[in-house]
Amino acid sequence: MTKSSEQHGNGLPVLILLGPPGAGKGTQAKKLEERFGLVQLSTGDLLRDAVARGTEAGKAAKDVMEAGGLVGDDIVIQIVADRLEAQHCAQGVILDGFPRTTAQARALDDILSQKGTGVDAAISLEVDDAAMIERISGRYTCAGCGEGYHQSFKTPERDGVCDKCGGTEFKHRADDNAETVRSRLEAYHADTAPLIEFYDAKGALHRVDAMQSIAGVERSLTDLVAPITGVAVA
Ligand code: ADP
Ligand code: ADP
Ligand code: ZN
Repeated sequence: MTKSSEQHGNGLPVLILLGPPGAGKGTQAKKLEERFGLVQLSTGDLLRDAVARGTEAGKAAKDVMEAGGLVGDDIVIQIVADRLEAQHCAQGVILDGFPRTTAQARALDDILSQKGTGVDAAISLEVDDAAMIERISGRYTCAGCGEGYHQSFKTPERDGVCDKCGGTEFKHRADDNAETVRSRLEAYHADTAPLIEFYDAKGALHRVDAMQSIAGVERSLTDLVAPITGVAVA
């Protein structure tokens, strides 16, 4: 495996998936994990876990998440900083849902520069608002293994049975409802969309048409990520 010269410092490729709720960040992050050996770091998943465990961060985040707002920068930055220290991220990370504000993006730069590295690519998954709403409202996951599905766009091969683990219980996120979707879209446009310009100014931005099928987006991302990780793709 040869490393590309595009990669920063110490051999830790750092990729960001930017995009509105429902754009396909989680779906594609899992595919990039499998293909390139990167570790997905989803702040949404980490926060849901903190809420479920009843930690201090979880208690502070719960109501904000239910209302579709953004959890405070300090809480989220601490969670990410802790995770980036973790041993299993040594192969490189794909940040899914972080950063979501300019303050988070600056904090990420600081954390990475202390490690002698930086953001290799910020990939904006571009979808229109109508598609986000359709994707969020049909989204569900396997209760056993967390595999993501969609009632129209990605159904299990056998009705009611998870393709990955054979589980038969599925769940729907409490915040994937009509009331919170509007707040989440507003938060995206007000606080997160400016990061497109932030990374463009650094020369790190890549745009991907996420209105394509899941397989189409996966192909575009593979073409983009392969030279960054230095992994040859057949
Ligand atoms: P995000 O992590 O950006 O919120 P997800 O990856 O959870 O988005 O995807 C949202 C929903 O849309 C899921 O149900 C997923 O199966 C579905 N989905 C993801 N990508 C696409 C796509 N390109 N076309 C159609 N549906 C998609
Ligand atoms: P989506 O799939 O809709 O993009 P996530 O699973 O990434 O949603 O996030 C769910 C919720 O968790 C968000 O609506 C927000 O309340 C909170 N959250 C996740 N990541 C962040 C972040 N980087 N900053 C602030 N809040 C966050
Ligand atoms: Zn499963």
